[in-house]
Amino acid sequence: MTLLERIELKAPAKINLILRVVGRRPDGYHLLETLMAKLDLADDLILESGPEGFELTVDGADLPVDQGNLCTRAAMAFFQASGRPAKVRARLVKRIPVAAGLGGGSSDAAAMLLGLNRMYGQPLDETRLHALGLQLGADVPFFLYPRATAWAEGIGERLGPGPNLGNELILLVNPGWPLSTAWVFRNHKLELTSGGRKTIVTGLNERSFTMLGALHNDLERTVLAHYPSLAGIRAALLDEGARGALMSGSGPTLFGVFSDPDVRHRAAEKLRTLGGGRWRVVEAAILNMAVTDGQLQQYF
Ligand code: ATP
Repeated sequence: MTLLERIELKAPAKINLILRVVGRRPDGYHLLETLMAKLDLADDLILESGPEGFELTVDGADLPVDQGNLCTRAAMAFFQASGRPAKVRARLVKRIPVAAGLGGGSSDAAAMLLGLNRMYGQPLDETRLHALGLQLGADVPFFLYPRATAWAEGIGERLGPGPNLGNELILLVNPGWPLSTAWVFRNHKLELTSGGRKTIVTGLNERSFTMLGALHNDLERTVLAHYPSLAGIRAALLDEGARGALMSGSGPTLFGVFSDPDVRHRAAEKLRTLGGGRWRVVEAAILNMAVTDGQLQQYF
């Protein structure tokens, strides 16, 4: 069997526009209801066929290259499930801040599964890929899902199409330090959670969905209470003209939603100054189309 020689993939970041923690399984996993959107901020993954074995190199972040990297774990899972021999050299170029609530590791893992499956002639069907992805991380199935936005339920395994969000402009502000997802969930008090399913059902009706009205993250209160500097970033986004602002996922990245590119640009400059060079401020856009793996490559 001949392998494809080389594949380049984009592994996009995500933000959570709505995130509700609705319960906890006996094994400790939290049950969520969330609306996620992929962004045009992405890591690059380059796969090349090579001699026997699998090797990963990483540029742009200090990350392990062994099983400590979700890319390597995804590759091992692919070779085990497909029974194909590993003959791949992979290069990951990180642009998405790490441990930031932007799903970078999960997206890299999904790109690795999609890329290897393509390289080896699609030995795994969608269902197998989804199952492998879920074992690697709760957000991985979303990044395998061929659309820009999706509702996810359970621990992220139940996915449905999200609304088409148009041309909202996003400003990401990452404080420059990582936050562990596990820490956030340990500190989150479930009883603080309000509502749940009702919002999601309303949200599912695309015509009545207004993104700004819907922005909500149950984890935000927990994180902002521990890190007042993040509350400061959120307030600064609103002061500088964001029509809405929210923490993404388990944080610490915050995002503002803008409609005017000039207002957003000025806000970006101001926030960079406020952060004194420590904050990473990125102007990004929500991918507003059905994204198949192939289409995603053309988008960038
Ligand atoms: P989520 O939003 O899914 O909770 P996150 O954006 O908060 O994810 P990641 O950037 O995926 O977090 O990283 C979480 C942890 O996973 C980090 O502590 C990092 O060391 C580890 N990790 C392993 N592989 C990767 C990878 N390829 N990219 C980023 N982090 C990785």
